Amino acid sequence: MERWQKQLSDSVVKVKDLPFVSGSKDYMEKLEKVAEIFPIRINSYFLDQIKEENDPMWKQVVPTLEELDDFLSAEETLESDPLHEEEDMPVPELVHRYPDRVLLMLNNQCPVICRFCTRKRKIGFPGIVTRETLRQGIEYIARHPEIRDVIMSGGDPLLVPDKELERILRALREIKHLEIIRIGTRVPGTLPDRITPELCDMLKKYHPLYANLHFNHPAEITPEVEAACNRLADAGIPLGSQTVLLKGVNDDVEIMKELMHKLLKIRIKPYYLYQADMTVGTDHFRTRIEKGLEIIRGLQGHTSGMGVPYYVIDTPGGGGKVRLLPDTVVEFNDREILVRNFEGKVFRYPQPTEKTQKNTVLDPTVVPSSGKLCELA
Ligand SMILES: *Cc1c(COP(=O)(O)O)cnc(C)c1O
Repeated sequence: MERWQKQLSDSVVKVKDLPFVSGSKDYMEKLEKVAEIFPIRINSYFLDQIKEENDPMWKQVVPTLEELDDFLSAEETLESDPLHEEEDMPVPELVHRYPDRVLLMLNNQCPVICRFCTRKRKIGFPGIVTRETLRQGIEYIARHPEIRDVIMSGGDPLLVPDKELERILRALREIKHLEIIRIGTRVPGTLPDRITPELCDMLKKYHPLYANLHFNHPAEITPEVEAACNRLADAGIPLGSQTVLLKGVNDDVEIMKELMHKLLKIRIKPYYLYQADMTVGTDHFRTRIEKGLEIIRGLQGHTSGMGVPYYVIDTPGGGGKVRLLPDTVVEFNDREILVRNFEGKVFRYPQPTEKTQKNTVLDPTVVPSSGKLCELA
């Protein structure tokens, strides 16, 4: 057994083994109830990263009674499938929402089960994704020439054994119209030893391959994680990162800035910052929208543009991702735009007019009388 397999098989999955959790019999029984509805998994690598109760790692993976309150009160604005993914599945476990790309779920197991998971309804329960659903998914992509990009998701696709993963990649690569393959994974940040040299050697045969990783807090970037990301980047896989804005974990400009800087240092380009979804059992993680805008305002211009992710809401009801920007436009009309820079100063940019553009439209057939070609004033 490899080290990562041992770390996975040593996962905490029961309430009695949770780190820094104790309480009355009643409290523990209620937690058991939470775990029945929303399973627990904390692999032993990630467990080692938890230093105390309520630290950013603890909050991401240890269940609390807030999940149960949320589930029982059944606030009608919260849903088990807030993005209505099940409605956009032409075949089981494949979401076709955007014109030219699809999301294909390879499994429903993860190296840790995040308490704020948008797919809380299906992660950790056996038997949802099968060889048959996968076969249908791949066949669907083959039958639809408009699909040029597939995102392998789940669950976590990098928990699929190498051989099986290669079988899937090979089948996808046989589809001529499929241009790129993306891997959406939290494995590098939560079970880094799984990124073995053998896995990387296999993956790099199936380029162009991209990976979008998942990081929420700078403390997740340990030396092991750095080494894992290096192996992926050295295999030629461009790395991006997705971050979920989480109350009490990373809803702070300085924490986010540190995270983005640490990501760039290990060759990961921040891609999306997600406003938390309206998923049942996760309401206590949601922040106000102003917080996300404040974070983007605190990054844009203050640090490398490379380090500023797109802040998005994945719209409830299945409308897809919509990007939000802090209001940089002060005024915009036919003649000009007034914009606010990162220091809060306002600048004017005039629209092009016939007057400003008169010299750029030259008639190439007219040779100036001097005989020389085109000397611009
Ligand atoms: C996010 C997402 C994608 C990919 O979107 P990009 O903006 O291209 O990264 C594709 N399908 C679904 C269902 C998604 O949620």
